[in-house]
Amino acid sequence: MRKKERAEEIIKRLKQMYPETGCTLDYDDAWKLLVSVRLAAQCTDARVNVVVQELYREFPDVEALAAADAADIERIVKPCGLGHSKARDISACMRRLRDEFGGRVPEDFDTLLTLPGVGRKSANLIMGDVFGKPAIVTDTHCIRLVNRMGLVDGIKEPKKVEMALWKIIPPEESNDFCHRLVDHGREICTARTSPHCDRCPLTDVCRRVGV
Ligand code: SF4
Repeated sequence: MRKKERAEEIIKRLKQMYPETGCTLDYDDAWKLLVSVRLAAQCTDARVNVVVQELYREFPDVEALAAADAADIERIVKPCGLGHSKARDISACMRRLRDEFGGRVPEDFDTLLTLPGVGRKSANLIMGDVFGKPAIVTDTHCIRLVNRMGLVDGIKEPKKVEMALWKIIPPEESNDFCHRLVDHGREICTARTSPHCDRCPLTDVCRRVGV
């Protein structure tokens, strides 16, 4: 089975398994997703969702966060780990939004990449979830699963995985496909234990590389 055909079949089955999918970071405004995705590095989405509640109680909008002392942001976001650099990035990012973009999140991938603390993964997440554009978010679940499935061959570097996936995943499926990889990576094709292939509906299309 060629990679493209394998991908098509996996997309179809993941849709059946996880009809309702989406980002597990809570946000009701684009700038909040920018903040959360920075906090989510090496931290669980569940913890981020708790920590941001206090952050937004104290700093409810872009203006307030941009004007805040980075040390005050750090005090609140510390439970997410890497508090110092995350607070510094959030502070600088909110100042850029305030000073250069009228407080709005720019709807352009390359411009997003210029924001402090925003890499390809975050920029793709914003493009997909906020702006409804094609997006491939190569997080740890995505990289692990597409290697096991045989959709990429031994590629671990996020940008290279992204580029390889763009060649085989239909753009209109890309964003939800990545969310469903997270769903599947949490529930069945797990990282810390052996993957639960015995109860996975993908066994006949998955190459189970390294499993
Ligand atoms: S068959 Fe096994 S390795 Fe493949 S996706 Fe399912 S759980 Fe993961």
